[in-house]
Order: sequence, then C-alpha cells, then structure tokens
Amino acid sequence: VISASTRVAGIIGDPVRHSLSPVLHNAAFEELGLDWVYVAFEVPAGGVPAAFAAMSTLGLGGLSVTMPHKTAAVEACDELSPAAAQLRSVNTVTPVEGRLRGDSTDGKGFLRAVAAELDLSGAAVLILGAGGAARAIASALHTAGARVQISARRAEQAAAAAELAGTGEVVAWEARNEAAHAVDLVVNATPIGMADSDDNPLLASALRAEQVVADLVYHPLDTTFLQDARSVGARTVDGVAMLVHQAALQFELWTGREAPVSAMHLAARRAIG
Ligand code: NAP
Repeated sequence: VISASTRVAGIIGDPVRHSLSPVLHNAAFEELGLDWVYVAFEVPAGGVPAAFAAMSTLGLGGLSVTMPHKTAAVEACDELSPAAAQLRSVNTVTPVEGRLRGDSTDGKGFLRAVAAELDLSGAAVLILGAGGAARAIASALHTAGARVQISARRAEQAAAAAELAGTGEVVAWEARNEAAHAVDLVVNATPIGMADSDDNPLLASALRAEQVVADLVYHPLDTTFLQDARSVGARTVDGVAMLVHQAALQFELWTGREAPVSAMHLAARRAIG
C-alpha cells in the first residue's frame, strides 16, 4: 500500500512509456516487501538539470536514465563511478549524502548475465555494433580479462569501442562471419533482429556448438539469431538477462539489498509475452 512514507524511484526518458523498468523494479520491491514504488517520468531533451533538481527536492530514492539523457546526465551528477566516467554515460543516479552519484550498470549487468555460461577471463569475444551498449560491454569485458574484438559498419566508431576494450582490435564489418567463428563469445549489440524482422547479424554457419551467443535484442525474446545459435548447439544468453541484471545493480545501489533477480526475470518475461 502506498503511504506517506513510501519511497519513490523512477526513470526519466523520452520516449519512456514502453519502458520495462517499472515492471522490473516494482516486481523487486514487491518480492522483498519494500515500501518503494517506481514510476516513469517523460522528460524531453534538455530536461536533465530540472529533473535532477527535482530528484533532490522531492527526495527520490533513485533514478534510471535512458534516451536521450545518458550523456547530459554525466554533467548533471555531482560524482561519477569509474564506469560512468570512462563511458561518459549515466544510466543510474543514486542520492548519497545529499549528492547525486552517476553510474553505468549496463556493462556489469552484461557480465552478470553471461557469468553462468562462460568464464570470461581469457575468453575471446566478438562484439557486433559500436553504440552505447557495445561500448559499455567492451569496457566491462576488458575489466573481466576477456580479449575483445569489435565489428561495426562504421570503422571510426568500432575503433573507439575497441579502445575501451583495451585491445584496439577491429574487424571489418564484411569479415565478421569469419571472425565470429573463431571466438568463445559472440555478442549482438546492434538492433538487427528487432521487432518482426528476420534479419540476422551473422550467418548461421558462422556459429559453433562450443560457443556462447548473446543477443541484446529482447523484442522478440527469442530472435532468429538465438534460434540459429541453438540449432548449432551453442549456449545462448538473451536480451532480458542483461536487462534484468543492469536493473538489479540499480536496485542494489538504491536499496542496499540484494536484488531478487528471479522475480525480476519472471516479471520481464511476462511483460514481453
Ligand atoms: P546505438 O547506440 O544506436 O548503437 C547501435 C549500433 O548498432 C551502432 O554501432 C549501429 O551502427 C549498429 N547498427 C544499427 N543498425 C544496424 C544495421 N542495420 N546493420 C549494422 N549495424 C547496425 O544503440 P545501443 O544503445 O548501443 O543499443 C543497441 C541494441 O542493444 C538495441 O537493440 C538496444 O535495444 C539493445 N540494448 C539492450 C539492452 C539490454 O539490457 N538487453 C541494453 C542496451 C541496449 P551505426 O552507427 O552505423 O548506425
């Protein structure tokens, strides 16, 4: 029951009405019986300073940040985690003794999502795409001791992401199938395969049974890319796993409690259908 002592957390973004974050966080609050509620705030571009001021004034317990605010949020925070500082991107804001601390939980969320399938230390990884998600994952995988290559259709972006991976190793977009065949983990960090598209980021023949194949796309949950991976006997990690784990890290920063990951997973799967 919402009362006068209920703590409020939320997400700012535009668009934000289709966000799964409220489903994930409210499922977690409910599971642990915490007197918290999580809501979506539609905040247009340019609104970060006002939203952060409101966060402090209203005493919000935590804020998620999504498009188009992840870069503007870097400037508006009082302090940054090492990941947020390196990526120049904030997806999580936590009030800490009157100051707003910015974090980026995508990379670490991805590590948690694949941890059950693969020992990342020394693993060879190919990331497809070089956008915000690819950059976060590249940096986190570097920290975990993986050897990362990046393939994206724009060479300059690929090189920048490969710098974050600590290797500088770029694979031409045209050569991605051959490169994929050789690695332990392949990650689709492009939107290819989203919605009702049957497009694939790789040929099925590029995949092997000994590999782990991860897709960040979670709509649909079971992409044709993941179906191809299963058909050759590879282990798969779907986009919901990362979505859940990046939210679980936010939850832990805000509440200091271990996140009920299974309940969050279940809620996300129900919502996606
Ligand atoms: P982004 O910053 O826009 O980057 C997208 C990347 O994919 C860019 O390198 C882009 O290349 C490339 N790309 C887009 N369309 C392509 C195509 N048709 N062929 C080849 N490359 C293409 O997006 P993002 O934030 O990194 O997100 C990437 C995907 O991951 C999205 O589907 C997003 O929904 C998903 N995601 C999932 C999670 C999760 O928790 N599961 C978290 C974050 C993101 P160009 O620069 O050339 O366009």
